[in-house]
Amino acid sequence: MVTGSTVVCIGELLIDFVPEENGLPLAEVPLFRKAAGGAPANVAAAVAKLGGASRFIGKIGADPFGQFLRETLVSAKVDPALVETGEARTGLAFVSLRADGERDFLFYRQPAADMLLHSSELQDAWFADAAILHFGGVSLIHEPCRSATLAAAERARRLGALVSYDPNVRMTLWGDDTERARCEMLAPMAHADVVKVSEEEIHFLTGTEDLLQGAHQLLEQGPQVIVATLGAEGSRFITSLADIAVPAPRVNAIDTTGAGDGFVGGLLYQLTQWAIAPVQIGRALADEGFVREIGRFASAVGALTTTRRGAIPALPTREEVERALD
Ligand code: ADP
Repeated sequence: MVTGSTVVCIGELLIDFVPEENGLPLAEVPLFRKAAGGAPANVAAAVAKLGGASRFIGKIGADPFGQFLRETLVSAKVDPALVETGEARTGLAFVSLRADGERDFLFYRQPAADMLLHSSELQDAWFADAAILHFGGVSLIHEPCRSATLAAAERARRLGALVSYDPNVRMTLWGDDTERARCEMLAPMAHADVVKVSEEEIHFLTGTEDLLQGAHQLLEQGPQVIVATLGAEGSRFITSLADIAVPAPRVNAIDTTGAGDGFVGGLLYQLTQWAIAPVQIGRALADEGFVREIGRFASAVGALTTTRRGAIPALPTREEVERALD
């Protein structure tokens, strides 16, 4: 029985430095603009921007960038469940946008504050009203934040919340050990209900080029639904019962940063609105009418996020989404 309605996100929170000009390699970008980022924080902000309740659990440095991130969450109406540390600085990521709008990253995390979150720092009150716990793959790379992330997912699940996972494969952060990365990103599948992946991620995680076959391999490991996002081509909701394609609206994309997170935020927001019990989610997401409705909403959030620069500043409000859907 789900009593809460809050989407609780846990993981990395960092500053994205986004170029003012598209199409240049990172070394040639003259000017970057700072924007709050980190995939799970983007998801929390997406839910809040749509009018839902969300919380972000993470660790920031006791420095001006950490302060900026706290203020960004507060002004985005995300409940900031933040631990502050003097042991490391707030993480930074420089992002370069190629001519086609796709992005390259350069991370400053050796280590960054977010990587030092410890499971003993998690507070009961952060989970008490959770309808959904969402986490991503980046906080699974290093200890102690890997254990903290997995402990949060287990705790939320025990309390009856739905668990959502985005492996968010970033090989530059995992280093050279591809096999370790694959194993450690696959392990949480057993504890997740909803998993969002791209086509390339399915290929990486399962070794198969066939999206449907790969999704079924992931379903066997525990999730009830695999949501594959395919950029401008839309998405597919794959359960053991169905494979439903949802098209994306046509937009003028200028920066795809945060599109996947916006999509996940839109999807999780919709799931809290429908208050479906976690055990029912696989069945609900095999219903074509239901998937088309919530998938269209999530796709509009993802698509609108690509029409502005950055991640959090680019997220749409519910009114903007509804206007786009009309
Ligand atoms: P990620 O950022 O995780 O790689 P995608 O780029 O696949 O995720 O984007 C997630 C969703 O956002 C897509 O499934 C789609 O609904 C929407 N979207 C992303 N890029 C575009 C685009 N260029 N045009 C329209 N919709 C898009």
